[in-house]
Amino acid sequence: MAKIAVLERKCTGCGLCQSNCPFGAIEMVGGKPELNAACKVCGICVKNCPEKAIIKLETKVNDVDKSAWKDILVFTEVSERGLHPVGLELIGKAHELAAPLGYSVKAVLVGSHISRHAEELQHYGLSEIAVYDDPTLAFFRADAYASCVEDYIRFSHPSVVLVGATALGRSLAPRLSTRFRTGLTADCTQLELKENSDLVQIRPAFGGNIMAQIVTPHTRPQFATVRYKVMNPAVRRDDASGQILARKIPTGVSQSRASCISVTPVPQKKSISDADILVVGGRGLQKESDLDMIRELASLLGGDWATTRPLVEKGWTTNDRQIGLSGRTVRPQLIITCGVSGAIQFTSCMNASDHIVAINTDRNAPIFDVAHIAIIDDLYKVIPELIQKLKEAQT
Ligand SMILES: Cc1cc2nc3c(=O)[nH]c(=O)nc-3n(C[C@H](O)[C@H](O)[C@H](O)COP(=O)(O)OP(=O)(O)OC[C@H]3O[C@@H](n4cnc5c(N)ncnc54)[C@H](O)[C@@H]3O)c2cc1C
Repeated sequence: MAKIAVLERKCTGCGLCQSNCPFGAIEMVGGKPELNAACKVCGICVKNCPEKAIIKLETKVNDVDKSAWKDILVFTEVSERGLHPVGLELIGKAHELAAPLGYSVKAVLVGSHISRHAEELQHYGLSEIAVYDDPTLAFFRADAYASCVEDYIRFSHPSVVLVGATALGRSLAPRLSTRFRTGLTADCTQLELKENSDLVQIRPAFGGNIMAQIVTPHTRPQFATVRYKVMNPAVRRDDASGQILARKIPTGVSQSRASCISVTPVPQKKSISDADILVVGGRGLQKESDLDMIRELASLLGGDWATTRPLVEKGWTTNDRQIGLSGRTVRPQLIITCGVSGAIQFTSCMNASDHIVAINTDRNAPIFDVAHIAIIDDLYKVIPELIQKLKEAQT
């Protein structure tokens, strides 16, 4: 931890610090520099001050005793539709991470009438399944759910806590990390665990231009959220193991400041994330009606269709059809991209698909770096031929 300080008696008010600051974080007030909230403590002003009037103060950080925090905890979300599949994907990843350090994997469930879900989780190699089951927890209330998970974290001291990047998880995880004054990395696409138990949380940053590796070296637990369909799900075992631990609801949870008046379930929409086969249209399509052939090909293959972001921006379709960093992550068995260049913001959210077929006229298009089958040709020639052949095969 560090901060920047200005030594007023040395400062001549030359303003070099202000003109050199890349974040616009320095304002000259009464002829002297003052730092605002945009300061990233990068130290450029310190280097550029000719009078050495700006200094960086390092604050001593009291490192946590890492040996007191072990194991990996997965928050497994339950809704009226059952266990959210992202929980099983996180358990799968947690097992991979835990094995080299000899950690065990635990789960925490919060809700009402959820014992059958805890029993189902016994088939996934967990050492403990903590359950907070109470009628007042039937619907998600961020403060109440956070108090339950906080209670179990204080009881079990996990080194790592994984949460699905669902609407619920995105609300819960930051509340929890704030309560423990520790770090949280959202939307991780890869996770690694170092020998010293630091979790390397990898995710695209700066508009997808870099893959940032983020660590939480001084505090525990380490929180990460991961999107649905990014990790491989845990494999269900026939034998049931793992102790189910019915936890007492923390005091005050039932008197939450928020109460749920009524709940109207949103009709479940089919999501492109759940499709086994996807046909994707990109900016290589010349007009909106050309999406019809993407839809037709998808339908003949028994799959769904999706697009890149530019087509959403043109208003040809809606964001729930968009693959990518600002859209959905997909992992179908087969994906056919048509007129898609393969920008990192797109490929990082589909490159784990089992079979990737790319159609593009430009042989140097980056999509071919991730494709298993490259068709360097005009989509207006290839797609009608494919449609024709599929129709013939079906008659
Ligand atoms: C912060 C941020 C977030 C972003 N999030 C997303 C996101 O979630 N999803 C996303 O998709 N993008 C996202 N983008 C945009 C991304 O950078 C690309 O601009 C976008 O993916 C490009 O879409 P495209 O491949 O359809 O278009 P283009 O890059 O224009 O590619 C069109 C391709 O079609 C080919 N082509 C043209 N005509 C034909 C033809 N007749 N037959 C075959 N091929 C043809 C061309 O050779 C070209 O390669 C994001 C960008 C930023 C900065």
